[in-house]
Amino acid sequence: MNKNRRTFIKNMALAGGCAYFSLSPTRLLGEEGEKRIAPMERVDDNSLNYKQTIIILKKAYMREIQAHLAYTKFSLKALEEGYSNIAYLFKSFAVAESIHGRNFRNALVSLGEQPISPAEKIEVLSTKENLGQAISLELKEIDIYYPEHIRTIKAEEHWNSITAVSHALASEKQHEHLLQKMKKGTGIFWSMLKQKIEGEDVAFFICQVCGSTLTEIPDICPICGKPNSFYKEIEKAK
Ligand SMILES: [Zn+2]
Repeated sequence: MNKNRRTFIKNMALAGGCAYFSLSPTRLLGEEGEKRIAPMERVDDNSLNYKQTIIILKKAYMREIQAHLAYTKFSLKALEEGYSNIAYLFKSFAVAESIHGRNFRNALVSLGEQPISPAEKIEVLSTKENLGQAISLELKEIDIYYPEHIRTIKAEEHWNSITAVSHALASEKQHEHLLQKMKKGTGIFWSMLKQKIEGEDVAFFICQVCGSTLTEIPDICPICGKPNSFYKEIEKAK
């Protein structure tokens, strides 16, 4: 290997920019094998070294896009039924889910893979029922899917993917918290719930890096640690 290429690979590994370079070619193929490494071979190496990560990223991407589509429809349904704040909540969640989807897509592309879009099958019920659907969706993400995903992909050490999945999990926790907060103190009666939600002047702000969803702009993002300039106020649903 010529000196320039060796230095380049070493610098990339040091910078931690591309996980591929963190495995030295010598470790992968031996002294003889490193001569055979060509850029075209990276994809094959990735599909071997990050097999589980790729499977999980594809699954998570599909679920996030599915959630994005569902929340967009729930938002329209809420508007139709006259619940503008609930429509706004769903619209904001839809934005956050698309940010998670984008992050998973980017991680897949960096591994030489393409995401697969979900076949759209979304049941839109009444807004009251859609809120219930949203809570159970978020709970599944928090309690089952994402913790499982993190456990599975940790061993493969593709840190961009681990970060993307961890950020999505933290953001879904915020969603679930917001949904529960809306219900809190209103009892179990829908009429009281909708009165409370619709009576509030609410605003949603979303971190464009990680999808963090908050009702106030923080000093720094509590999930990804980026400055608050990455937060965008979501426009009301209309
Ligand atoms: Zn963030």
